[in-house]
Amino acid sequence: MSHTENIISIENLSFGYRQKKVLDQIGLEVPTGSIYGFLGPNGAGKTTTIKILLGLLRVPDNQVRLFGKDINHFRIETLKSIGTMVEDPSLYDHLSAIDNLRNSCIIRKIERKRIAVVLEQVGLTADSHRKIRSYSSGMKQRLALAQALLPEPQLLMLDEPINGLDPAGIIDIRNLLIDLNVNHGITIFLSSHILSEIEKLCSHVAVVHNKHILYQGSMDGLLNNSKSGVRLIVETDQPEKAKLLLQKAYPVETLGAHRIVVHLSDRSVTPRVASALVEAGIGILLLQPDNHELEASFLELLKSN
Ligand code: ADP
Repeated sequence: MSHTENIISIENLSFGYRQKKVLDQIGLEVPTGSIYGFLGPNGAGKTTTIKILLGLLRVPDNQVRLFGKDINHFRIETLKSIGTMVEDPSLYDHLSAIDNLRNSCIIRKIERKRIAVVLEQVGLTADSHRKIRSYSSGMKQRLALAQALLPEPQLLMLDEPINGLDPAGIIDIRNLLIDLNVNHGITIFLSSHILSEIEKLCSHVAVVHNKHILYQGSMDGLLNNSKSGVRLIVETDQPEKAKLLLQKAYPVETLGAHRIVVHLSDRSVTPRVASALVEAGIGILLLQPDNHELEASFLELLKSN
């Protein structure tokens, strides 16, 4: 597949089921190389959009492009470069990981030598002969990802990949997706209704609600969209000294014994806060934006629409 700036491009697309409109003139640009979060509440149209992108639902010409090509005219060609994982992957519990992947290779006419490669990529080589009924939820999800990776895709399209996983499984999948993106150059488009997960994983995000895209762009852009600014949590062994110093420039509150919260107009001010603390000889144990930030931005967007 040729390299294009935007691996997915949707222009002015409306879609409905019978009388019910689900998407109203949406546009979406997914940069090649990104981890793109498609974020919205249940029923917002995320799965519908993914089905459209996989060519499972029919749309008019010239509105959906994958790898720069119209999906209606290059469907088979583009699908070869896409790995997909739907919510309930078709895995057989009574078979091992290897046997599950062998089945997929036969059905999809993929060379068997890919099996060892994808098992290694998802870190399941050592467990590949075990029946998967003994796997944890995270391991099963990694196997589903291995299945998606079989055709050597340039793009992974994942519908709610984190849904239903236990906390260890969530961390597992998150790290794996970052590895596939950073070290294997795979663009990842994933849907989720879990705000904090999108924040931890994605470089870009689109917020879909009530048939429309309310925001699309960089993750930092969404965070800075928050009218209430950014809450930066600072943990230090000298919280009082840090508070006295920082409150000359920013509103500061105390949070427990060792933490303060600094209110910033936007994220780009963070390095200035860090250097002010270091210059004053104050040890920083932790410096992080408040996790509720994205939620606040998201709710603000929903409220104003
Ligand atoms: P999400 O993935 O964001 O939860 P969906 O794309 O699954 O949202 O659904 C969007 C809307 O379309 C919902 O109101 C849902 O009930 C409706 N819908 C989804 N699939 C169908 C279908 N096959 N027929 C009719 N309505 C559907």
